[in-house]
Amino acid sequence: MPRIALYPGSFDPPTNGHLSLIQRGLKMFDGLTVAVLRNLAKDKDPLFTVEERVDLLKGAVNGDKRVTVKTFEGLLVKFAKQEKVNTVLRGLRAVSDFEYEFQMANMNRKLDPELETLFMMTGEDYFYISSRFVRDVARLGGDVKGLVPANVLAALQEKFGK
Ligand code: ADP
Repeated sequence: MPRIALYPGSFDPPTNGHLSLIQRGLKMFDGLTVAVLRNLAKDKDPLFTVEERVDLLKGAVNGDKRVTVKTFEGLLVKFAKQEKVNTVLRGLRAVSDFEYEFQMANMNRKLDPELETLFMMTGEDYFYISSRFVRDVARLGGDVKGLVPANVLAALQEKFGK
């Protein structure tokens, strides 16, 4: 049986930090299901639609057959069951990520003791990259070259007319 992990998130937009995690995750797993969350409470002012994010992720992994991009809503544990996956991959950038991730991992374990969450530390080149900062900087007309994959950069330039 191929070993598949679920990599969930908002990915608004996908960044080089996400891509690095995907590439490193693929060293441990045969495949990854990248799962874009719909209807997140914090996602009130999205930059890209969920469908656009799926397309951007697919473009960013450049047709790598080991990566499947899907969407989900509601509980992650239910989606993981549905996908028959029992490992969730998450990244940790800073201490500030820890509390939220720690709570979520424990809540998910409470909901489904079979589901394990695996954390990977961000690479030194990526620790300061978050979708939120990329969104804010791009909206304000800053250059996010080097922070996002080339196809995401093109989509941002198109959106903000640069
Ligand atoms: P969420 O909105 O659920 O935090 P994100 O789309 O921001 O999701 O990120 C999804 C996952 O990728 C999270 O586990 C996050 O910690 C991780 N991640 C995001 N950016 C980076 C980065 N620069 N380096 C490592 N992991 C990252």
